[in-house]
Amino acid sequence: MIAPEIYNVNEKGYYGQFGGAFIPEMLYPNVEELRVSYLSIMAEPSFKEEFEALLKDYVGRPTPLFLAKRLSEKYNTTIYLKREDLCHTGAHKVNNTIGQILMAKRLGKHKIVAETGAGQHGVATATVCALMGLECIVYMGEIDIQRQAPNVARMKMLGAKVVPATSGSKTLKDATNEAMRHWINNPVDTHYIIGSVVGPHPYPDMVARFQSVISEEIKWQLKEKTGKTNPDYVIACVGGGSNAAGAFYHFLHDEETKLIAAEAAGHGISSGLSAATTFLGKPGVLHGSRSILMQTEDGQVVEPHSISAGLDYPGIGPMHAHLFESKRATFFDVTDDEAIESAMELSLLEGIIPALESSHALAVLPKLGAKPDEVVVINLSGRGDKDLETYQKYIK
Ligand SMILES: *Cc1c(COP(=O)(O)O)cnc(C)c1O
Repeated sequence: MIAPEIYNVNEKGYYGQFGGAFIPEMLYPNVEELRVSYLSIMAEPSFKEEFEALLKDYVGRPTPLFLAKRLSEKYNTTIYLKREDLCHTGAHKVNNTIGQILMAKRLGKHKIVAETGAGQHGVATATVCALMGLECIVYMGEIDIQRQAPNVARMKMLGAKVVPATSGSKTLKDATNEAMRHWINNPVDTHYIIGSVVGPHPYPDMVARFQSVISEEIKWQLKEKTGKTNPDYVIACVGGGSNAAGAFYHFLHDEETKLIAAEAAGHGISSGLSAATTFLGKPGVLHGSRSILMQTEDGQVVEPHSISAGLDYPGIGPMHAHLFESKRATFFDVTDDEAIESAMELSLLEGIIPALESSHALAVLPKLGAKPDEVVVINLSGRGDKDLETYQKYIK
Protein backbone atom coordinates (compact mmCIF):
# COMPACT_ATOMS: atom_id res chain seq x y z
CA MET A 1 0.00 0.00 0.00
CA ILE A 2 1.14 3.52 -0.77
CA ALA A 3 1.53 5.80 2.25
CA PRO A 4 -1.01 8.64 2.16
CA GLU A 5 1.64 11.31 2.52
CA ILE A 6 3.51 10.09 -0.55
CA TYR A 7 2.92 13.29 -2.56
CA ASN A 8 3.28 15.64 0.40
CA VAL A 9 6.55 16.71 1.95
CA ASN A 10 8.10 14.34 4.51
CA GLU A 11 9.58 15.32 7.86
CA LYS A 12 12.99 15.90 6.36
CA GLY A 13 11.62 18.31 3.78
CA TYR A 14 11.65 15.93 0.80
CA TYR A 15 9.21 14.89 -1.89
CA GLY A 16 10.75 11.61 -3.03
CA GLN A 17 14.32 12.51 -4.05
CA PHE A 18 13.48 16.23 -4.40
CA GLY A 19 13.42 19.10 -1.92
CA GLY A 20 15.64 19.62 1.11
CA ALA A 21 17.40 22.81 2.18
CA PHE A 22 20.67 23.50 0.37
CA ILE A 23 21.60 26.83 1.86
CA PRO A 24 24.72 28.71 2.91
CA GLU A 25 25.52 28.25 6.58
CA MET A 26 24.83 31.96 7.19
CA LEU A 27 21.18 31.43 6.22
CA TYR A 28 20.67 28.39 8.44
CA PRO A 29 19.34 30.19 11.56
CA ASN A 30 16.61 32.01 9.58
CA VAL A 31 15.43 28.97 7.68
CA GLU A 32 15.61 26.80 10.79
CA GLU A 33 13.54 29.29 12.79
CA LEU A 34 10.87 29.11 10.12
CA ARG A 35 11.08 25.33 9.80
CA VAL A 36 10.52 24.61 13.49
CA SER A 37 7.61 27.03 13.83
CA TYR A 38 5.65 27.30 10.57
CA LEU A 39 3.27 24.39 11.15
CA SER A 40 2.41 25.29 14.72
CA ILE A 41 1.89 28.96 13.80
CA MET A 42 -0.39 27.99 10.91
CA ALA A 43 -2.39 25.76 13.25
CA GLU A 44 -3.04 28.54 15.80
CA PRO A 45 -6.74 29.46 15.82
CA SER A 46 -5.93 33.19 15.84
CA PHE A 47 -3.69 32.75 12.77
CA LYS A 48 -6.34 30.81 10.88
CA GLU A 49 -8.98 33.36 11.79
CA GLU A 50 -6.91 36.31 10.60
CA PHE A 51 -5.82 34.51 7.40
CA GLU A 52 -9.36 33.49 6.51
CA ALA A 53 -10.79 36.94 7.26
CA LEU A 54 -8.24 38.62 4.98
CA LEU A 55 -8.77 36.07 2.22
CA LYS A 56 -12.48 36.81 2.41
CA ASP A 57 -12.64 40.59 2.77
CA TYR A 58 -9.34 41.73 1.27
CA VAL A 59 -8.57 39.19 -1.46
CA GLY A 60 -12.24 38.56 -2.31
CA ARG A 61 -12.44 34.80 -1.66
CA PRO A 62 -13.96 32.42 -2.37
CA THR A 63 -13.21 33.04 -6.03
CA PRO A 64 -15.99 31.74 -8.30
CA LEU A 65 -15.94 28.37 -10.04
CA PHE A 66 -17.42 29.29 -13.40
CA LEU A 67 -19.04 26.89 -15.86
CA ALA A 68 -17.62 27.98 -19.23
CA LYS A 69 -20.48 26.91 -21.49
CA ARG A 70 -19.23 28.03 -24.88
CA LEU A 71 -15.73 26.71 -24.21
CA SER A 72 -17.30 23.41 -23.07
CA GLU A 73 -19.32 23.21 -26.28
CA LYS A 74 -16.25 23.79 -28.38
CA TYR A 75 -14.30 20.95 -26.71
CA ASN A 76 -17.33 18.69 -26.19
CA THR A 77 -16.78 18.25 -22.46
CA THR A 78 -17.67 20.14 -19.24
CA ILE A 79 -15.20 22.87 -18.35
CA TYR A 80 -15.10 24.94 -15.17
CA LEU A 81 -12.75 27.88 -14.65
CA LYS A 82 -11.42 28.57 -11.16
CA ARG A 83 -11.37 32.36 -11.19
CA GLU A 84 -8.11 33.27 -9.42
CA ASP A 85 -7.99 36.16 -11.90
CA LEU A 86 -10.60 37.82 -9.70
CA CYS A 87 -8.33 37.94 -6.63
CA HIS A 88 -7.22 41.38 -5.44
CA THR A 89 -4.10 42.33 -7.48
CA GLY A 90 -5.30 40.09 -10.33
CA ALA A 91 -3.74 36.70 -9.59
CA HIS A 92 -3.33 33.89 -7.07
CA LYS A 93 0.01 35.21 -5.75
CA VAL A 94 -1.64 37.29 -3.03
CA ASN A 95 -2.95 34.15 -1.26
CA ASN A 96 0.65 33.35 -0.42
CA THR A 97 1.84 36.85 0.45
CA ILE A 98 -1.08 37.30 2.88
CA GLY A 99 -0.12 34.03 4.59
CA GLN A 100 3.56 34.92 4.75
CA ILE A 101 3.10 38.45 6.07
CA LEU A 102 1.02 37.01 8.94
CA MET A 103 3.78 34.45 9.49
CA ALA A 104 6.39 37.23 9.56
CA LYS A 105 4.41 39.12 12.17
CA ARG A 106 4.08 36.02 14.38
CA LEU A 107 7.86 35.55 14.10
CA GLY A 108 8.37 39.13 15.29
CA LYS A 109 9.82 40.39 11.99
CA HIS A 110 9.04 43.92 10.90
CA LYS A 111 10.86 44.10 7.58
CA ILE A 112 10.15 42.14 4.42
CA VAL A 113 12.49 41.27 1.57
CA ALA A 114 11.39 39.65 -1.69
CA GLU A 115 12.63 38.97 -5.20
CA THR A 116 10.61 39.49 -8.34
CA GLY A 117 10.95 38.76 -12.05
CA ALA A 118 8.10 40.32 -13.95
CA GLY A 119 7.04 42.20 -10.84
CA GLN A 120 3.85 40.24 -10.07
CA HIS A 121 5.18 38.76 -6.84
CA GLY A 122 6.80 42.10 -5.99
CA VAL A 123 3.43 43.82 -6.33
CA ALA A 124 1.66 41.14 -4.24
CA THR A 125 4.34 41.55 -1.55
CA ALA A 126 4.31 45.36 -1.60
CA THR A 127 0.51 45.18 -1.32
CA VAL A 128 0.48 43.18 1.91
CA CYS A 129 3.34 45.24 3.37
CA ALA A 130 1.28 48.38 2.83
CA LEU A 131 -1.70 46.63 4.39
CA MET A 132 0.30 45.71 7.49
CA GLY A 133 2.58 48.74 7.64
CA LEU A 134 5.79 46.73 7.28
CA GLU A 135 8.91 47.93 5.47
CA CYS A 136 9.33 46.29 2.07
CA ILE A 137 12.43 45.84 -0.08
CA VAL A 138 12.08 44.14 -3.46
CA TYR A 139 15.07 43.02 -5.49
CA MET A 140 14.52 43.05 -9.22
CA GLY A 141 16.91 42.52 -12.13
CA GLU A 142 18.00 45.75 -13.79
CA ILE A 143 16.76 44.50 -17.15
CA ASP A 144 13.39 43.46 -15.69
CA ILE A 145 13.01 46.93 -14.15
CA GLN A 146 13.21 48.39 -17.64
CA ARG A 147 10.91 45.74 -19.16
CA GLN A 148 8.23 45.90 -16.46
CA ALA A 149 7.86 49.61 -15.75
CA PRO A 150 4.15 49.51 -14.76
CA ASN A 151 4.80 46.98 -11.99
CA VAL A 152 7.78 48.99 -10.75
CA ALA A 153 5.48 52.01 -10.53
CA ARG A 154 2.87 49.93 -8.64
CA MET A 155 5.44 48.70 -6.11
CA LYS A 156 6.73 52.23 -5.51
CA MET A 157 3.22 53.60 -5.15
CA LEU A 158 2.59 50.90 -2.54
CA GLY A 159 5.61 52.15 -0.62
CA ALA A 160 8.17 49.45 -1.49
CA LYS A 161 11.82 50.12 -2.18
CA VAL A 162 12.81 48.50 -5.49
CA VAL A 163 16.51 47.62 -5.59
CA PRO A 164 18.07 46.78 -8.99
CA ALA A 165 20.05 43.52 -9.19
CA THR A 166 23.03 44.36 -11.36
CA SER A 167 24.94 41.05 -11.35
CA GLY A 168 24.88 38.21 -13.91
CA SER A 169 22.10 38.39 -16.48
CA LYS A 170 20.37 41.11 -14.40
CA THR A 171 17.12 39.10 -14.25
CA LEU A 172 15.16 36.94 -11.77
CA LYS A 173 17.93 34.50 -10.86
CA ASP A 174 20.22 37.39 -9.91
CA ALA A 175 17.46 39.20 -8.01
CA THR A 176 16.93 35.97 -6.00
CA ASN A 177 20.63 35.75 -5.17
CA GLU A 178 20.71 39.36 -4.00
CA ALA A 179 17.53 39.01 -1.93
CA MET A 180 19.08 35.98 -0.19
CA ARG A 181 22.25 37.98 0.45
CA HIS A 182 20.14 40.76 1.98
CA TRP A 183 18.47 38.23 4.27
CA ILE A 184 21.82 36.84 5.39
CA ASN A 185 22.89 40.36 6.36
CA ASN A 186 19.61 41.14 8.17
CA PRO A 187 18.64 37.87 9.84
CA VAL A 188 17.01 39.15 13.03
CA ASP A 189 14.37 41.63 11.90
CA THR A 190 13.65 40.49 8.32
CA HIS A 191 11.45 37.80 6.74
CA TYR A 192 12.02 36.68 3.16
CA ILE A 193 8.77 36.17 1.23
CA ILE A 194 9.40 33.67 -1.59
CA GLY A 195 6.82 33.86 -4.38
CA SER A 196 6.38 30.23 -5.42
CA VAL A 197 6.73 26.63 -4.21
CA VAL A 198 10.50 26.86 -4.59
CA GLY A 199 13.41 27.57 -2.24
CA PRO A 200 14.69 25.62 0.77
CA HIS A 201 12.34 23.57 2.96
CA PRO A 202 9.93 24.66 4.47
CA TYR A 203 9.10 27.24 1.78
CA PRO A 204 7.67 24.87 -0.86
CA ASP A 205 5.38 23.22 1.68
CA MET A 206 4.39 26.48 3.38
CA VAL A 207 3.53 28.18 0.07
CA ALA A 208 1.61 25.09 -1.13
CA ARG A 209 -0.44 25.13 2.09
CA PHE A 210 -1.28 28.83 1.71
CA GLN A 211 -2.31 28.28 -1.92
CA SER A 212 -4.23 25.08 -1.10
CA VAL A 213 -7.30 27.23 -0.43
CA ILE A 214 -7.80 27.01 -4.22
CA SER A 215 -8.48 23.24 -4.28
CA GLU A 216 -10.30 23.37 -0.94
CA GLU A 217 -12.80 25.72 -2.59
CA ILE A 218 -12.94 23.74 -5.85
CA LYS A 219 -14.08 20.66 -3.88
CA TRP A 220 -17.12 22.21 -2.23
CA GLN A 221 -17.97 24.42 -5.18
CA LEU A 222 -17.97 21.47 -7.57
CA LYS A 223 -20.03 19.46 -5.12
CA GLU A 224 -22.61 22.26 -5.05
CA LYS A 225 -22.74 22.42 -8.84
CA THR A 226 -22.43 18.78 -9.88
CA GLY A 227 -22.96 16.67 -6.76
CA LYS A 228 -19.38 15.36 -7.01
CA THR A 229 -16.33 16.78 -5.23
CA ASN A 230 -13.75 15.47 -7.66
CA PRO A 231 -13.36 16.47 -11.31
CA ASP A 232 -11.75 14.13 -13.85
CA TYR A 233 -9.01 16.66 -14.59
CA VAL A 234 -7.42 19.66 -12.88
CA ILE A 235 -5.24 21.72 -15.22
CA ALA A 236 -2.80 24.45 -14.14
CA CYS A 237 0.25 26.17 -15.60
CA VAL A 238 3.61 25.71 -13.88
CA GLY A 239 6.24 28.42 -13.54
CA GLY A 240 7.64 27.65 -10.11
CA GLY A 241 4.39 25.83 -9.48
CA SER A 242 2.44 27.65 -6.77
CA ASN A 243 -0.91 28.02 -8.52
CA ALA A 244 -0.67 24.39 -9.66
CA ALA A 245 0.27 23.26 -6.14
CA GLY A 246 -2.76 25.09 -4.76
CA ALA A 247 -5.09 23.68 -7.41
CA PHE A 248 -3.76 20.12 -7.01
CA TYR A 249 -3.28 20.04 -3.22
CA HIS A 250 -6.54 18.46 -2.02
CA PHE A 251 -6.66 16.10 -5.01
CA LEU A 252 -3.12 14.75 -4.65
CA HIS A 253 -4.28 11.49 -3.11
CA ASP A 254 -7.54 11.21 -5.06
CA GLU A 255 -6.16 9.32 -8.00
CA GLU A 256 -9.42 9.44 -9.97
CA THR A 257 -8.63 13.12 -10.57
CA LYS A 258 -5.92 13.47 -13.18
CA LEU A 259 -3.47 16.29 -12.49
CA ILE A 260 -2.32 18.15 -15.59
CA ALA A 261 0.56 20.62 -15.61
CA ALA A 262 1.20 23.01 -18.51
CA GLU A 263 4.77 24.11 -19.08
CA ALA A 264 5.92 26.99 -21.24
CA ALA A 265 7.69 25.58 -24.29
CA GLY A 266 8.49 29.03 -25.72
CA HIS A 267 9.31 28.57 -29.42
CA GLY A 268 9.20 24.76 -28.92
CA ILE A 269 11.11 22.30 -26.75
CA SER A 270 13.90 21.74 -29.28
CA SER A 271 14.21 25.40 -30.33
CA GLY A 272 16.74 26.51 -27.71
CA LEU A 273 14.19 29.13 -26.61
CA SER A 274 12.06 27.29 -24.07
CA ALA A 275 11.17 27.06 -20.39
CA ALA A 276 9.75 23.49 -20.41
CA THR A 277 11.74 22.24 -17.42
CA THR A 278 10.47 18.66 -17.20
CA PHE A 279 11.15 18.12 -20.90
CA LEU A 280 14.60 19.72 -20.95
CA GLY A 281 15.87 19.62 -17.37
CA LYS A 282 17.79 17.23 -15.14
CA PRO A 283 17.96 16.85 -11.36
CA GLY A 284 20.07 19.49 -9.67
CA VAL A 285 20.06 22.16 -6.98
CA LEU A 286 18.64 25.64 -7.60
CA HIS A 287 17.69 28.35 -5.10
CA GLY A 288 18.00 26.11 -2.07
CA SER A 289 16.35 22.86 -3.07
CA ARG A 290 16.97 19.77 -5.16
CA SER A 291 14.62 19.64 -8.10
CA ILE A 292 14.62 19.45 -11.89
CA LEU A 293 16.23 22.36 -13.70
CA MET A 294 17.47 23.35 -17.12
CA GLN A 295 21.25 23.17 -17.09
CA THR A 296 24.30 22.67 -19.27
CA GLU A 297 26.48 19.52 -19.15
CA ASP A 298 28.60 21.11 -16.43
CA GLY A 299 25.64 22.26 -14.35
CA GLN A 300 25.32 25.93 -15.36
CA VAL A 301 21.72 27.16 -15.35
CA VAL A 302 20.35 27.65 -18.88
CA GLU A 303 18.49 30.94 -19.53
CA PRO A 304 14.86 30.05 -20.14
CA HIS A 305 12.50 31.66 -22.63
CA SER A 306 8.74 32.10 -22.52
CA ILE A 307 6.41 34.78 -23.87
CA SER A 308 4.92 34.79 -20.38
CA ALA A 309 7.10 36.38 -17.72
CA GLY A 310 5.58 34.30 -14.92
CA LEU A 311 6.60 31.01 -16.55
CA ASP A 312 10.06 32.18 -17.60
CA TYR A 313 11.89 30.17 -14.91
CA PRO A 314 14.56 27.46 -15.45
CA GLY A 315 13.27 25.17 -12.68
CA ILE A 316 10.10 23.88 -11.03
CA GLY A 317 9.33 23.33 -7.37
CA PRO A 318 10.37 20.00 -5.77
CA MET A 319 6.77 18.88 -5.28
CA HIS A 320 6.19 19.09 -9.03
CA ALA A 321 9.49 17.35 -9.80
CA HIS A 322 8.19 14.47 -7.69
CA LEU A 323 4.73 14.52 -9.29
CA PHE A 324 6.50 14.34 -12.65
CA GLU A 325 8.85 11.53 -11.67
CA SER A 326 6.13 9.49 -9.98
CA LYS A 327 3.84 10.12 -12.99
CA ARG A 328 1.07 11.34 -10.65
CA ALA A 329 0.86 14.47 -12.81
CA THR A 330 1.03 14.61 -16.60
CA PHE A 331 3.07 17.45 -18.10
CA PHE A 332 2.22 19.14 -21.41
CA ASP A 333 4.46 21.53 -23.33
CA VAL A 334 2.69 24.59 -24.69
CA THR A 335 4.33 27.02 -27.12
CA ASP A 336 4.05 30.82 -27.11
CA ASP A 337 1.81 30.66 -30.20
CA GLU A 338 -0.53 28.05 -28.70
CA ALA A 339 -0.89 30.16 -25.54
CA ILE A 340 -1.73 33.28 -27.58
CA GLU A 341 -4.32 31.35 -29.57
CA SER A 342 -5.99 30.12 -26.37
CA ALA A 343 -6.02 33.64 -24.90
CA MET A 344 -7.85 34.92 -28.00
CA GLU A 345 -10.25 31.97 -27.84
CA LEU A 346 -11.22 32.46 -24.19
CA SER A 347 -11.69 36.19 -24.73
CA LEU A 348 -14.06 35.61 -27.64
CA LEU A 349 -15.95 32.63 -26.21
CA GLU A 350 -16.34 33.66 -22.57
CA GLY A 351 -15.57 37.37 -22.32
CA ILE A 352 -12.57 36.71 -20.06
CA ILE A 353 -9.10 37.96 -21.02
CA PRO A 354 -6.68 35.58 -19.27
CA ALA A 355 -3.10 36.17 -18.15
CA LEU A 356 -0.54 34.76 -20.58
CA GLU A 357 0.49 32.24 -17.92
CA SER A 358 -3.07 30.96 -17.53
CA SER A 359 -3.40 30.76 -21.32
CA HIS A 360 -0.84 27.95 -21.21
CA ALA A 361 -3.22 25.90 -19.06
CA LEU A 362 -6.09 26.64 -21.46
CA ALA A 363 -3.95 25.52 -24.40
CA VAL A 364 -3.90 21.95 -23.06
CA LEU A 365 -7.61 21.58 -23.93
CA PRO A 366 -7.15 20.64 -27.62
CA LYS A 367 -4.58 17.98 -26.62
CA LEU A 368 -6.39 16.57 -23.57
CA GLY A 369 -8.99 14.29 -25.15
CA ALA A 370 -11.55 14.81 -22.36
CA LYS A 371 -14.80 12.90 -22.95
CA PRO A 372 -18.31 14.44 -23.11
CA ASP A 373 -19.28 13.08 -19.68
CA GLU A 374 -16.06 14.23 -17.99
CA VAL A 375 -15.45 17.34 -15.88
CA VAL A 376 -12.39 19.53 -16.37
CA VAL A 377 -11.33 22.28 -13.96
CA ILE A 378 -8.83 24.83 -15.26
CA ASN A 379 -7.11 27.11 -12.80
CA LEU A 380 -7.27 30.57 -14.32
CA SER A 381 -4.33 31.91 -12.33
CA GLY A 382 -4.51 35.56 -13.40
CA ARG A 383 -6.08 38.22 -15.57
CA GLY A 384 -4.69 39.54 -18.82
CA ASP A 385 -4.54 43.30 -18.24
CA LYS A 386 -0.80 43.14 -17.60
CA ASP A 387 -0.25 41.33 -20.93
CA LEU A 388 -2.12 43.69 -23.24
CA GLU A 389 1.07 45.04 -24.76
CA THR A 390 1.95 41.50 -25.88
CA TYR A 391 -1.59 40.62 -26.99
CA GLN A 392 -1.80 43.81 -29.05
CA LYS A 393 0.80 42.46 -31.45
CA TYR A 394 -1.45 39.48 -32.25
CA ILE A 395 -4.86 41.11 -32.56
CA LYS A 396 -6.09 40.64 -36.11
C1 LIG B 1 3.51 34.22 -11.33
C2 LIG B 1 2.37 33.67 -12.07
C3 LIG B 1 2.31 32.31 -12.48
C4 LIG B 1 3.45 31.36 -12.28
O1 LIG B 1 3.81 31.11 -10.96
P1 LIG B 1 3.45 29.74 -10.23
O2 LIG B 1 4.24 29.79 -8.98
O3 LIG B 1 3.86 28.62 -11.14
O4 LIG B 1 1.99 29.74 -10.01
C5 LIG B 1 1.17 31.86 -13.12
N1 LIG B 1 0.13 32.67 -13.37
C6 LIG B 1 0.15 33.98 -13.02
C7 LIG B 1 -1.03 34.83 -13.35
C8 LIG B 1 1.26 34.52 -12.36
O5 LIG B 1 1.27 35.82 -12.01
